[in-house]
Amino acid sequence: STSIMLFTRDLRVRDNPALAAACRAERVVPVFVFDDALLGGPFAAPNRVRFLLESLADLRESLRELGGDLVVRRGDPVTEVARLAERTRAAALFLADERSAYAARRLDGLRGLGLEVSAHPGITVVPPGDLTPAGGDHYRVFTPYWRAWDAAGRRPVAKTPRKVALPSGLRPGALPDMAGLVSGTPSRDLADGGERAGRRRMETWLRESAADYDRVHDDLAADRTSRLSPYLKFGCVSPLEAAKAGPEGFRRQLAWRDFHHQVAAAFPELARADYRPRGRRWNRDEDALAAWRAGMTGIPIVDAGMRQLRAEGFMHNRARLITASFLTRNLDIDWRRGLRHFNDWLLDGDVADNAGNWQWVAGTGNNTRPAQVMKPLRQALRFDRGGDYVRRYVPELAEIEGSRVHRPWSLPADRRRALGYPPPIVDPE
Ligand code: FAD
Repeated sequence: STSIMLFTRDLRVRDNPALAAACRAERVVPVFVFDDALLGGPFAAPNRVRFLLESLADLRESLRELGGDLVVRRGDPVTEVARLAERTRAAALFLADERSAYAARRLDGLRGLGLEVSAHPGITVVPPGDLTPAGGDHYRVFTPYWRAWDAAGRRPVAKTPRKVALPSGLRPGALPDMAGLVSGTPSRDLADGGERAGRRRMETWLRESAADYDRVHDDLAADRTSRLSPYLKFGCVSPLEAAKAGPEGFRRQLAWRDFHHQVAAAFPELARADYRPRGRRWNRDEDALAAWRAGMTGIPIVDAGMRQLRAEGFMHNRARLITASFLTRNLDIDWRRGLRHFNDWLLDGDVADNAGNWQWVAGTGNNTRPAQVMKPLRQALRFDRGGDYVRRYVPELAEIEGSRVHRPWSLPADRRRALGYPPPIVDPE
């Protein structure tokens, strides 16, 4: 018998329940389809496309080591799977269970092909919908979700297939170039995509930083969080394996990820709906928005975060909180415009996580409690005490020592002018 394994955002061979199940057939067709509908939309940011291509090259290498290959196609996934099924006479289709509105439509289409379709867990630790509060379809508040999440049983880790046998005569197809998929240039300092790079990062982090996580995860300059988010976004690392290995504070962060995914599954409006009190309008100051995007607000902690984003396709969580709060609370600009900019650059950019967090910071969500307003200067002095984070990302300020780097506006006027750094666009204190 022949099965098709459709990879989506589960680009790994370890702990991949769909792949493990597909490989029980005599022959398996592992395939990834570059989906034209996704390539045409906001998903196709150069940073993520590059990470995706590297992840696919790595996956292909792993499948080749197992005797198989990765079949690559482009177009509509339902049409491409139908073609492959016809060519190979496959009877069954395996894929990761994903609950976004888009994935649900795709699954409906695939179910219409007459194959036996099975969707397996693996994208989150706990699948959306598995945990529900009494009298509701999903959790709206994090703390009770976290308690239920941490107490819930876990599925066993899936076995890595020992062999992947392709049907004969199948043309695997070349991986496309960046240029054929997306326009624009990726950031200069991106993490490498792929399961190997992800596992290396996880192992190093577990060895060197995990034990200190609770103490250092908010320290901007220390930069000692796991940086696993892009690997989790593309499924290069299994969230379940990460949750089993990491300490409690880290597990709690993974539970936030699952939390947003279960909100988004039950409430797809999460990414759009804005629950501001009626009659309150967002500020449409285009210059302020442009300054925020460029990291030129004149508030060093905000600019450092925004420049890290462009340089690395990544931003430390504390800096995401500070920059998002600054945009929505200090500048009073619509969080959806901030979300779009994040999504243009983040390697880990994900509808559920991005929107869930923006809603939380802006205090606009339907489901979560509004967060408090963060004063940027106070945050800077607390989480970048020595100023190293700012000096790392804002070279104009690299010569200012200690925490004075957080207040360039208080320098003598001639020194201030010589910096070539803008004055603050709003009162920073
Ligand atoms: P660690 O501290 O090592 O945490 C481990 C993992 O837990 C992360 O890799 C991530 O998968 C998960 N996690 C941690 N914090 C959160 C959180 N608040 N919400 C959801 N998952 C979390 N994360 C994304 O993955 N994609 C996004 O698009 C995204 N957008 C964000 C937008 C804003 C405005 C804010 C405030 C946060 C956003 N986050 C997003 C959450 C968080 O900032 C990143 O997951 C985290 O910084 C990734 O770094 P890390 O892997 O080193 O995290």
